[in-house]
Amino acid sequence: MAASPWTPQTLAVALGRPTHEPDAPLNSPVVMTSTYVAGGPRGYGRTSNPTWEAFEEVLGALEGGRALAFASGMGAVSAVLDLVPVGGVLVVPVGGYSGTMAAAAAMEGSGRAVVRRVDVTDAAAVAEAATGAQLVWLESPTNPLLEVADLPAAAAACSRSGATLVVDNTFATPLLQQPLDLGADVVVHSATKLIAGHSDVLLGAVVVGTGGAADALLAEVTARRTLGGAVPGPFEAWLALRGLRTLPVRLRAAQASATELARRLAGHPAVSRVRYPGLGTIVSIEVDGGAAAADAVCGAARLWTNATSLGGVESTLERRRRWPAESAAVPESLVRLSVGCEDVEDLWTDLEQALRGGH
Ligand SMILES: *Cc1c(COP(=O)(O)O)cnc(C)c1O
Repeated sequence: MAASPWTPQTLAVALGRPTHEPDAPLNSPVVMTSTYVAGGPRGYGRTSNPTWEAFEEVLGALEGGRALAFASGMGAVSAVLDLVPVGGVLVVPVGGYSGTMAAAAAMEGSGRAVVRRVDVTDAAAVAEAATGAQLVWLESPTNPLLEVADLPAAAAACSRSGATLVVDNTFATPLLQQPLDLGADVVVHSATKLIAGHSDVLLGAVVVGTGGAADALLAEVTARRTLGGAVPGPFEAWLALRGLRTLPVRLRAAQASATELARRLAGHPAVSRVRYPGLGTIVSIEVDGGAAAADAVCGAARLWTNATSLGGVESTLERRRRWPAESAAVPESLVRLSVGCEDVEDLWTDLEQALRGGH
């Protein structure tokens, strides 16, 4: 993308809109159609849609690349994992998002690919695993352990080995981290989370850079979206775009609260460990007393909702190991807190009473 004079906060509001002319709507319309009148490039509703494109224009500008919207984060993940050639080598985190880890394990189980698992915090291990690999998948910070990878080091290793570097940027969002700028080839998002931001829609995205090898990647991922069929509904794309408009202000507010809550939790007698990388809106804590104590905290919260998913304006919390698919690397007592936009003092008061066992 050509350098823009605008900051991300302005781009999020200003792009993805119809051209200014008399009587033009301010917002991109929700174009509900399965087909188009013949004669133009659009063709069919599984191939293109103007509402997807409005969302893609904004997300692409924020990431510094070109975006493709998918029906869900996993739709985007699957399309990118499919880039691994049959029998190829795929590197994934030891503990990343459980859905991605399950998809990699399925590829391994069927003999579709060889999977190497690495500690993303160990840059030397990532570089070693990248040698001879076709695709290196990183998540940073990881869900839910909040581990941070050295992306420039991983990018250097991947360019030496010829591997494609993919970064799941769901937790940082393009406002806190732009992986393409740090040398990654592909960015993946669950826009369901912070980007859409209101716990009311599932959507995913893939972003690639501009020029050269990125053109081939864009064509390959586009073909996989069209043939795999994980295309978003126009209304879902519109909701995600509406959410994206306020991502900068939501993120700023929620991150300030997350930082303050992480600080207070670190001094709380019922909490044995706080994981917070110092940025973002997710805080993971380990509660004294194992799974039962962690379940009790989740059950006793009133303002915080005991629910999976994250990144909404509504604060949620959950004990991740309640899911059988969650990695054994995640402690049984780990509670992932997704900090939303409520008042931080109200959030603290409720969390404190929940940590006291609801008394
Ligand atoms: C939720 C999530 C996904 C999957 O996204 P969906 O929109 O639920 O399909 C992928 N990666 C990360 C890091 C996630 O948190």
